[in-house]
Amino acid sequence: MSGSLDAAAGPHASRPIAPAAARRSLCVVVPCFDEAEVLPLLHRRLVAALDAIDADWSILYVDDGSRDATRSLIEQLAASEPRVGLVALARNFGKEAAMTAGLDHADADAVVIVDADLQDPPELIATFWRHFLEGHDVVYGVRRSRAGESWLKRATANAFYRLIGRLSLTPVPADTGDFRLLSRRANEALRRLRERHRFMKGLFGWIGFRQLGVPYDREPRAAGSTKWNYWRLWNFALEGITSFSAAPLKLATYVGLATSLLAFAYGVVVIVRTLLYGDPVAGYPSLMVVILFLGGLQLMALGLIGEYLGRLYMEGKQRPLYLVDRLVGIARGADRAGAASD
Ligand code: UDP
Ligand code: MG
Repeated sequence: MSGSLDAAAGPHASRPIAPAAARRSLCVVVPCFDEAEVLPLLHRRLVAALDAIDADWSILYVDDGSRDATRSLIEQLAASEPRVGLVALARNFGKEAAMTAGLDHADADAVVIVDADLQDPPELIATFWRHFLEGHDVVYGVRRSRAGESWLKRATANAFYRLIGRLSLTPVPADTGDFRLLSRRANEALRRLRERHRFMKGLFGWIGFRQLGVPYDREPRAAGSTKWNYWRLWNFALEGITSFSAAPLKLATYVGLATSLLAFAYGVVVIVRTLLYGDPVAGYPSLMVVILFLGGLQLMALGLIGEYLGRLYMEGKQRPLYLVDRLVGIARGADRAGAASD
């Protein structure tokens, strides 16, 4: 029995039957905005890390309208390495849109998103890949430490995650960034979410599937400077809450209900007191306080409604999420496969 099998297999018996089919593909998406300073360093480390993984890897850089040499650097990389591609956007659309552009143009069994500034250690991709092979659809990095970040940023981030954990109906894991691996079906699911206001952490959670967090130490930026300041972070938090919860809209209802109950009780007090003690003219300070307080509350509630209305308005325009200026290398093939920007 075994003799005839050996004979059938011939001299190639020790080789696997279809080695090419068994090897799965991995595409790393890197959103870049003014990253010329770190790009060569990143590319070297990324290639070294990917070479250590048993996968058909490729790298897809997204140039998010950089004003420095980022684009020409990537073009050089793509010219010398066929596994490198470039999606150049028509202007700076922001990291969320840049990531989306990358994910849309990536055609692989698994996609990994990595920041250009080396804050996400490329060496961790091997661990992501192992968990992917075990059957996980989403593997994300969880920051164990936040080196190089002020206590204020840490404290505000903490408060934000607690708040959104309470408000959002879908889980948003704390201390995770965009550094993660998505299986093909997870990426395809994500591609179907075309909302304009993209709170990616929430969208990643929304799709579900088998998810796993891998702890790692986040290093400070290797070079260049961050594009985030507190105003942007505040808007980011607002984005997260309004995208994943309508709870603030109910705030006005309950605050209004509480104040009317209080007002009614106070009204009874005023009427009874007038009946008992007559009606001396008084109460200017309390009147002023009540008017200002209620005016403030009303404006705040109106503003809240405005936040949601504004988002609805932007969503209603149905504009594409980004516009592509140029595709280079592997990005072109994926575009044929049906990538769409809207
Ligand atoms: N980024 C981008 N478009 C932008 C801003 C940032 O593609 O408009 C990229 C940037 O090049 C980097 C990643 O998003 O690869 C994270 O940006 P940054 O390091 O400034 O953010 P931080 O790590 O401070 O949160
Ligand atoms: Mg960074």
